[in-house]
Amino acid sequence: MSASQIPPATAVPGDDVPTLLVKIFGKDRPGITAGLFDTLAAYSVDVVDIEQVVTRGRIVLCVLVTSPVPADGSSGVTEGDLRATVHSWAESLNLQAEIISGTGDNRPRGTGRSHVTVLGHPLTAESTAAIAAAITGTGANIDRIFRLAKYPVTAVEFAVSGTATDTLRTTLAIEAAALEVDIAVVSSGLQRRAQRLVVMDVDSTLIQDEVIELFAAHAGCEAEVAAVTTAAMRGELDFEESLHARVALLKGLDASVVDLVRKEVRLTPGARTLVRTLKHLGYQVGVVSGGFTQVTDALQEELGLDFASANTLEIVDGKLTGKVTGEIVDRAGKARLLRRFAQEAGVPLAQTVAIGDGANDLDMLNAAGLGVAFNAKPLVRQAAHTAVNVPFLDTVLYLLGITREEVEAADTHDD
Ligand SMILES: [Mg+2]
Repeated sequence: MSASQIPPATAVPGDDVPTLLVKIFGKDRPGITAGLFDTLAAYSVDVVDIEQVVTRGRIVLCVLVTSPVPADGSSGVTEGDLRATVHSWAESLNLQAEIISGTGDNRPRGTGRSHVTVLGHPLTAESTAAIAAAITGTGANIDRIFRLAKYPVTAVEFAVSGTATDTLRTTLAIEAAALEVDIAVVSSGLQRRAQRLVVMDVDSTLIQDEVIELFAAHAGCEAEVAAVTTAAMRGELDFEESLHARVALLKGLDASVVDLVRKEVRLTPGARTLVRTLKHLGYQVGVVSGGFTQVTDALQEELGLDFASANTLEIVDGKLTGKVTGEIVDRAGKARLLRRFAQEAGVPLAQTVAIGDGANDLDMLNAAGLGVAFNAKPLVRQAAHTAVNVPFLDTVLYLLGITREEVEAADTHDD
């Protein structure tokens, strides 16, 4: 058939066109979907919409079709025939069928569309009720709900429409704090699929440790360094001043300690899965750290990171001098590096994701398209777009709409 002979596509039925919703429910087995459409095919109806869900072996199949219209234009008879045929087919398979007459397509979704991801550990019915009530309380409609993951947390995504994303985010942030679940609200649309660069903090984000404290333990000044770190992370001290003060305490430490510290570093649970999955999906992944290149270079190599930047401990004659060299990576530096990595990766800033836990991550989290506070201090949690408070870094994947099945499928194809 040449292009000129192709008939025009059937338009979506207008509001006045009779349509039928055919709903099938029961024990799932192979052939149900094909069987239903075989049955409907005898009436020459057009398919307007299909939704099918199988939950623990039970199928719910909803099909919206145009009403059958007899060739002579008379009405009523064939719709009744279709109903009888579908019911008798369903009965023969021990399925329940419901057929509802109406007109036109589904009601269009409202404007202001968002994805609301809920991470529960566990996810209780009480929390789910409160979240659903809070969503509808803003005037929004829940259009669809599905599970993204059952491991290491229960992650559920709500597709919501009818309320501005910011309004929904503010309302649900209050619920999240009260219910002790993590709720992320992101705007729907192509932008969400276009995120292509993830930049992470290192200490207490990618790894469980604060690297300078590992060095301090070898230098015997653990308590002094920890006190300064805590104050800096709370935002009470200028980061650069505190960095110099803490590094000065390491003066004279043997450079062989660097290897020991590298071996002591513990990745955060889910860190490898997060990076591996992102790389499979074609994301570029980087780290920025107020810690030290002596450790981040090794992490970059080990995890195959595209970008890494940190401060460098100066080593002269096999000893730490108590100084850092090069460009200082502080709060402003982290945001600057995010911009630089984005530019090098050819990714607009709006399509970047930043993850961090400390006050010195805030500029970076705010500059990114999506800023995720990971087990963060309260100050950071409140200021970020979204917060994750379970100790598994791979749960960030669920905020990007990636399912556990997709994570595991990517692993299966690992080489
Ligand atoms: Mg940190």
